[in-house]
Formats: sequence, C-alpha cells, structure tokens
Amino acid sequence: MSNRDFADSRARWQQLVEEIAGARDAYYLRDSPTMSDAEYDLAYRELEELERAWPQLQTADSPTQSAGGRVGELFAEVEHLEPMYSLDNVFSAEELDGWLSRTAKAVGDEPSFLCELKIDGLAVDLVYRDGQLASMATRGTGRIGEDVTFNLQYIPAIPTRLQSDSGHPIPELLEVRGEVFFPLASFAAINEEQYDAGLPAYSNPRNAAAGTLRQRMDRKLDEINRAVSGSGPRAEAKGARLRQEFDRCVRRLAELNLTVHGLGLVEGIDVREQSQAYTLLHDLGLPTSQYAQVRSGNAAVKDFITFYQEHRHEIAHEIDGIVIKVDRIDLQETLGQTSRAPRWAIAYKYPPEVVRTRLLDIAVSVGRTGRVTPYAVMEPVHVAGSTVTMATLHNAHEVHRKGVLIGDTVFLRKAGDVIPEVLGPVLEARDGTERPFVMPTTCPQCGASLRPAAEGDKDLRCPNAQSCPGQLVERLANIGSRKALDIEGLGDKSARALVEGQVLVDEATLFDLREADLLRCSYFTREPGKGESGPQLTENARVILAQLNAAKSQPLWRVLVALSIRHVGPPTAQAITSTFTSMTAIRAASIEELAVVDGIGDKTATAIREWLDEPWRAHIIDTWAAAGVRMVDEQVVLGPQPLAGVTLVITGTIDGFTRDGAEAAAAQAGAKVSGSVSKKTTAIVVGANAGSKADKAKDLRIPVIPAEVFQDLLAEGLDSVLNRIES
Ligand code: NAD
Repeated sequence: MSNRDFADSRARWQQLVEEIAGARDAYYLRDSPTMSDAEYDLAYRELEELERAWPQLQTADSPTQSAGGRVGELFAEVEHLEPMYSLDNVFSAEELDGWLSRTAKAVGDEPSFLCELKIDGLAVDLVYRDGQLASMATRGTGRIGEDVTFNLQYIPAIPTRLQSDSGHPIPELLEVRGEVFFPLASFAAINEEQYDAGLPAYSNPRNAAAGTLRQRMDRKLDEINRAVSGSGPRAEAKGARLRQEFDRCVRRLAELNLTVHGLGLVEGIDVREQSQAYTLLHDLGLPTSQYAQVRSGNAAVKDFITFYQEHRHEIAHEIDGIVIKVDRIDLQETLGQTSRAPRWAIAYKYPPEVVRTRLLDIAVSVGRTGRVTPYAVMEPVHVAGSTVTMATLHNAHEVHRKGVLIGDTVFLRKAGDVIPEVLGPVLEARDGTERPFVMPTTCPQCGASLRPAAEGDKDLRCPNAQSCPGQLVERLANIGSRKALDIEGLGDKSARALVEGQVLVDEATLFDLREADLLRCSYFTREPGKGESGPQLTENARVILAQLNAAKSQPLWRVLVALSIRHVGPPTAQAITSTFTSMTAIRAASIEELAVVDGIGDKTATAIREWLDEPWRAHIIDTWAAAGVRMVDEQVVLGPQPLAGVTLVITGTIDGFTRDGAEAAAAQAGAKVSGSVSKKTTAIVVGANAGSKADKAKDLRIPVIPAEVFQDLLAEGLDSVLNRIES
C-alpha cells in the first residue's frame, strides 16, 4: 500500500481517537453522551479495522487498548482487586459464528455457553469481606474505579451482608461485578422529573443510573449542614432547597437495582462453572438474573438471542444485547483476556433504539377534536426497523420541558411499537443558530384563536370544530379508520381530497356521496381509456363508495367511535352500547345515566352529553340515519361468558388476531376490555412487542397472560388459565 494510504489512514486514526476520547469523557464523566451508542460503536469499529490494517498505528493508549471508562476527580480512586474488563462486540449472526468457531477451536471442544441479557446499566465492583459489604466502586478505567461506597446506604437493592443461613460457608473475600440499573418505569419518571426541574433529560437508562450513582451524597450532606448552621431566612431557604434536592437524590438511589454478573477476586469458594457461581451468589443473597441460561450448540445460542430480540420490551429494564460466556471457568482461564476484554465472552449487540438526528422544524397539526399539537420534523433517520421523520411533542409545555430548539441535534428513541420520542437536545452540538419554538396563537388551518379546553389545561384547541378544515379532514379519516367504521380507501389522503376539493363541507353527508360527487374531484378520477368518454372514477374511488355502503351496517359502537367524541374510543363505545343499545337511548341519557356505565367517568359522560347537545352534531346523526346507517344494535345473542366480571387489557401483537379482533373476542367472551392499566385491571394479555403497559401491570402485580394462551383464556376463563400458568 502506498504512503498516501498510510498518511490518510493515520489522519483518520487520529480523528477517530479524538472523537472517541471526547465521547468517552461525555459518557463516563458527565453522564451526558454527545453521540448515540450506535455511532460510538461504528467509530470504534472503524478504529479497530484501521489498526488491523496498519498495526503500527496502534499505540498503548489507543482507545482499543483499554476498558474505556474514565475516573473523574469527583471521587476517590480505588484499585480493583482484579481488573474489570469490557466486552468485545458482535453485531450479526455471521460475526457471532466467527467468534463461536474461534472459541471452540481454541478450547478444542464445543463448550457450553451461559447466555445472559446485556443490561444497559453501569458496571460496579462490590467487595464483601467476611460477609460484610466493604466497598463499592465504578468500573472506571478497568483497573482503577471511583469510590462510591458512601452511597451504598441509600440503595436498598444492594445487600450489605451476605446471607449466613444459605448452607454455604461465608467466603472470606468475595469481589463481585454487577450492573446497576433503573427499571424502565423508573427511567421514564426520572426524565419527567429532570424536565420539570429544568435539567436535561438522560438519553438512556444507563446514563440515568450513572448520573444517579455518581453523586457525592456526602458532600451534599455537608452542604446542607453548612447551610442550616447559618441563621436568617436566606440560610433557611437555602437549607430547605438543598434538603429537597438531597431527598430527590435519595429517592432515586432507592430505585436503583442490581444484577450481579461476574466474579473478581475470591477466597473461600470453589466453583467450576459461571452458572454454578450464580447459584451460589444467589444463595448468598445477591441478586442474580432470572434470565441466564446455559446453552449448548450454536443454534441454541442463536435461539436465545432471537427470542430476547423479539421479547426485548417485555423485560422490566433496558437491554442492549446478549452476553455469551464460556460457562466452564477452567476454559475461561485457558482463553484468558486481552488488555480490554475477556476472550471467553462476547456481547451480541441488538440494533439501536436511540439515534441522533437534526430537528429541522417544529410544526403544528390540528387533531380531530381540535387539539393543536406541535410535532418534530426531523432529518430522516433509520431506527428500530423504520425511517422516522416525525415525532409528536404533545404541547408547547412539553417542547419547553424538553428544552429543544429548532435546529438542535437531538436524541430520538423508538422502542418496539411505541411511538418515536424526542428525548432531548445534544447541548454540546449547539452553534448558536438554533431558535426557540413559538406556539401559534391561532389555528394554522382556519385562523381561529386557540384556547385551552379548560382552565389550566396544557393543550390548546381550535374551538372552530364545525368548520375548521383541518379538524374535518381528521374526523373523516377517523371515520374510515379500522377502529371506527373500517372503510377501505378512506384514509388521510382521500379525506384531505374530499375537503380540499369541496366535495364535503361536513361529515353529515358522507353516506350520501354518489359517483357524480367524486367525479368533481381530480383526486378520485383518471383519464378516460379507450371507448370511454370523460373522466372516470379511479378504482380507489369505487372501493370507497362500495365500502361506505357496507359500513352502514356496522355495529353501533363503531358508529359512536366514528363520531369523534372526546374520550370515546372502542372500549368506551363498547361499554356504552352494552347498556344503551340504540342511538335514541344514548341521545336520551343524562350525564348521570351515562356515568353509571362501567368504565365511564363524569369527564367522558359530560363530553358525550355536550357533543350530543350541539345541533350541528345532532344533525350528523340524523343525516347518517336517514342515509341508512344502522343506529340500533341488533339483540346480540350472548354466547358463554367465561370472562364475565374480568377487566382485561391487551397489549402487543397476538398471533391470529388484529388488536381490534382480539378486543372484540374478549368482549364477546364477557370481558370488559380497557385501553389502560390501572388498579381496576384484573389481568393483562401480553403479546410480542408489548410496551410500557406490560411493565406497569407487573409493577401493579396484575396477572400477566402470555398471548399463546389467549385462545384458552377465551374458552376457559381466567381462573383456569391462571391455575395452569402457576402450576
Ligand atoms: P459494553 O457496555 O458494550 O459492554 C461491557 C459491559 O457490559 C460490562 O462492563 C458490563 O458492565 C456490562 N454488562 C451488562 N450485562 C452484562 C452481563 N450479563 N454480563 C457481563 N457484563 C454485562 O462496553 P463498555 O466498555 O462498558 O462500553 C462501551 C459501550 O458503551 C459502547 O459499545 C457504547 O454502547 C457505550 N458508549 C457510548 C458512548 C457514547 O458516546 N454514546 C461513549 C462510550 C461508550
């Protein structure tokens, strides 16, 4: 290779070393990354490849030669009894195959592997002497960590004594490594608190855990003592403020969890396998993972990886991959380690869920109930299997809380089927050209003055419900949606065409549409073909007309959802129509009568009553009825009701059912189906890619029914299925 190639490679090497060193400082010392993990991993990979191609570039202090962490000046330094290593990564099945076959070759056999979840937390080193916890340190450089022992008293998840009645002798010395982390539910709450306190959000639970643990609680206490020793109202106020901040930190530390996943120096125990060590540590009272499994053979290892990639969001904490370890400790010793990572373990990294992108603009949209919502318009970015260009920002208050400016570089998170979320800005990437978002005071669609629906409401609404074209488009698209009348072809685009082409001025006459009406609008027409005269309806337009006709005989609850009444989605509409079986009965009901329907509170009852009392809205119902839309539920012959009295939440995908279908099947079996988890929920059915509802249910100790037994649940009822799961 030419000198030019080398010179270029050296320049690139230098650039990468600086980039990675900067990213490590931000990540390890300030707990506030400037790059996404995926970008960091990519840069690190490139550096490794350059050093492989040009070994002379590799220096002893290259980032590839150390575990990577940092030790800040904030803490005293501790030398680990045995070094703590990082892990090498693989990102694909092919790379994993390479590692598995290299490992088998090196040990001359097919070893068994211990497969574990890779918890996205912060590595800590704990030393127990004669059963008593003596110190806690961060991983730091791998050799030297930061002493965070003082904070132990605030973290109940970390046992301060080993269990003496375990049947095992207490080891004289036990150095263990583990991951300190936040459950996802705590992480969400912490970011809320950060926003409210005007502090930047953490971009992932790992940074939140690190930011929480790496605090000088001892100094904070000293500060409080100094403040309260002064006299006068100012000192008192300062003391109270510091105390409040201290209490907040204590509350957060108390939410940290620990999972132990490795041994350092030990005296007085003899274990042959890593899995056996975990059993022992568990017996000694240390928290080990319930998910670790010994697997033999490459296929079994890969199955474990695939299973948790699919069920990643059912775990109560964030995972960023799977760690695969040679189980036998003598083989681990044979394989040894490099200066930064053991050769007997590898991390298989899952595709990233947090990415960095540019916030190009903040636009506002008008919803079907008039809610005006700011949303982020972003440079397109690929994350979790799709390209994201937009994310809701909910309201102006939220934009302010997140501290994002137009033009910012932001972290964006998309996890499973959860809608994408802007986490916050990368403050260090600002160059002064960013500008704040200003919430409009008038509706961008019709110019009406925006106002909150009620005093103190953070959302602004366009009050011009009847003739705001933006609201009408959204209401028409809602009528066509799967959760309402399920009219194929009537989606956002055709709704917009109907309104912009002035084919419809309200939704009342939707079911009166004829071919001639659609022929007036170019969106629904095509050029005439051979032998045809004049514009012809497109296939889509014909589908819409046919489907509109078919939709007239949909059940009453779907008609209710199609009306776009605030708070009335499918579960609420089903609850109403199970009590009131005709539109006439619903229209005659008072707020009190509506509110006694199971699952309907005053707020929803009032929203329904107010909607019905508006003459132009009543006119929609009358016109639809005149057009033949069914306004009475036929007497449903009830089948067996094994789920009578059960309030069920369904989350994630269930094989063989759409979400609506699953909910309808559960309702048919007598369940009350609810869209959100609360103390009233009897059980939750959890399918693949379930989101935060599953976590919330676990927190509330609500029984979880796996999607695989959903059919049994419908047929046999809850008790029988629960008995089977538990036995
Ligand atoms: P790592 O996080 O990829 O893997 C090693 C760590 O995994 C161990 O130290 C341990 O703490 C943890 N771990 C979790 N579960 C485990 C288990 N079951 N068994 C064993 N270990 C387990 O490597 P690292 O050296 O800690 O950090 C490098 C990674 O950190 C990068 O790949 C990147 O994701 C992130 N990082 C990001 C930035 C950034 O700017 N965004 C900067 C530095 C590092």
